[in-house]
Amino acid sequence: MDATRITFLVSAFATHAVVGYALVRGVTDADPRLGVALGLLPDADFLFPAAWGWPLVHRGITHTPLFAVAVVAVAYALRRDRTVALAVGLGIGSHLAIDSLSSKGIDWLFPLASTAGPGVPVHGPAATAVLWAASLGVLAWRTEGALAASIAGDRSAHGSDRSDPSDRQAKRRE
Ligand SMILES: [Zn+2]
Repeated sequence: MDATRITFLVSAFATHAVVGYALVRGVTDADPRLGVALGLLPDADFLFPAAWGWPLVHRGITHTPLFAVAVVAVAYALRRDRTVALAVGLGIGSHLAIDSLSSKGIDWLFPLASTAGPGVPVHGPAATAVLWAASLGVLAWRTEGALAASIAGDRSAHGSDRSDPSDRQAKRRE
């Protein structure tokens, strides 16, 4: 494998991970690491031995809605937790949504014949920048919301007589 291919794959994996993380963090109260794991799961098919053949190939069965539904069902059967099932669905769904736009596409109708994608360079520089910006935006929005909520909680817990930290520092310097 040459350096360009490796760089491409690392960037693609990182994008799937960050989008999965941001979606789960932004939309659910589940552990956002679920979004990373499930956002990467379909590409475990890179590890399938070539001898196995279709559908156990890259962009084969692990890149189908049928597989996603099965994984969500298994997650729900194991945990009986809708939030976890939603997080699993978001993680794996984000991967399929991104890959489906590429030229290779995904097998939407698996096990029926495959459909080619619209050919968007989903892991090219422009799409990568858009996906990262959107993900970081979601994370910033969530972090800000959590911070505001904890400050509000703090205020109501301690009343309004909390001194400003910069104030305290000024006093220490005197
Ligand atoms: Zn993929």
